[in-house]
Amino acid sequence: MRILVIEDEQKVAGFIRNGLEQEGYAVDVVYDGEEGTYQAENFDYDAVILDLMLPKVPGLQVLKKIRTRNLTVPVLILTAKGTVDEKVAGLDAGASDYLVKPFAFAELSARIRVLLRRGAQESTTLRLADLEMNTASRTVIRAGSKIDLKLKEFSLLEFLLRNARRTVTRTMIIEHVWDIHFDSVSNVVDVHINTLRNKIDRGFSPPLIHTIRGVGYVLTDESA
Ligand code: CA
Repeated sequence: MRILVIEDEQKVAGFIRNGLEQEGYAVDVVYDGEEGTYQAENFDYDAVILDLMLPKVPGLQVLKKIRTRNLTVPVLILTAKGTVDEKVAGLDAGASDYLVKPFAFAELSARIRVLLRRGAQESTTLRLADLEMNTASRTVIRAGSKIDLKLKEFSLLEFLLRNARRTVTRTMIIEHVWDIHFDSVSNVVDVHINTLRNKIDRGFSPPLIHTIRGVGYVLTDESA
């Protein structure tokens, strides 16, 4: 899942980025409202974390622009003061939730999980056949066996599960699992698909990860 962070305070932005990356999210950080608006309008993010006090374009304007474009991406606003007026204005302008600074990372992380869930109208458990992922405890089980996945493998599988039985292209995978600094000429997607396949499909039946030649991949329990 790929998250856009629009926050001008470098320390706060770095703290959010580090925490989210440790949980396997792909994170893009921008430091003003103008760039934030551009990023949100031109890339397909799964969630946006938006500070309200921003240079160039204030956060509330960024939010209004995103909603005017009818983008339904969940937006979590950060307010410094936590005044009632700011919160209400933010929620009225289409924010999904808000968090008052300073906050504990665990709380931000929990709110993000709720937003992603709300977006996909799913619970913390994603399931396909005998494969089960819990996005809160970050565990994966297939046919009763616990499967250990590295961060990016987990993110990749989460994306495939959220799009189960739909073909996803390499570009879609890159956009949702890796951040903007990703080197698109490398074969990192195929490498990660292969290691994931070894972990979730080897020794199990039926195979769930299917290659759609020349297009991408589909996670399905039906023969693709
Ligand atoms: Ca700020």
